[in-house]
Amino acid sequence: MALTTPGQSACVYCASSQACDALYHDVAHRLGGLLAKAGWTVVYGGGRSGSMGALAEGALAAGGRVVGIIPRFMQDLEWGHEELSELHVVEDMRTRKHEMLTRASAVIALAGGTGTLEELLEAMTLKRLGLFLGPIVLVNTQGYYDPLLAQLSAAIDGRFMDDRHGGLWSVVTEPDAVLHAIETAPEWSPANRNFAVAR
Ligand code: AMP
Repeated sequence: MALTTPGQSACVYCASSQACDALYHDVAHRLGGLLAKAGWTVVYGGGRSGSMGALAEGALAAGGRVVGIIPRFMQDLEWGHEELSELHVVEDMRTRKHEMLTRASAVIALAGGTGTLEELLEAMTLKRLGLFLGPIVLVNTQGYYDPLLAQLSAAIDGRFMDDRHGGLWSVVTEPDAVLHAIETAPEWSPANRNFAVAR
């Protein structure tokens, strides 16, 4: 069982959209506050728009530590959040993704677009290969992730993935269930790469 000891870091993937239902921003804000109160550092993409900004503001308002990792071109466009505990400017999107994940003991995905989906699927793939071992928790607000979860089930049912790959992620519906999901996530070991290829 993973332990949620203070001082751990959660990498949160979420939407930059300002146009989605404000409920998603509220969920991000609540999650930031909950993580901060539990002593977790929030690691995210460093943006200030949409759920990204709401997440950071929720954590900062609760006295939390928030680390943003942003690519230079976004910082040049002034997309970065200026009030974070730390904002690291990196060369490109690839480096940003790598930095975010390597700083994290757990991954949390809120609803989002291609950026969020890409980051989430990469984290799942790296975990499948034994290169990331932490819990991955999807917050399935209003069933947003139902189609993705159906697609992942189709991948398992079609033997593109092993049955055991269903243990790569956990699903909750509310941010207040995230820490429990992290604590109770199945152990994942580098040896699990032995079944990375479904046979
Ligand atoms: P999306 O879910 O498609 O809005 O993408 C969110 C992810 O894409 C973030 O985690 C970032 O990696 C990146 N991203 C897209 N737009 C922005 C933005 N305006 N500011 C910061 N990051 C962004």
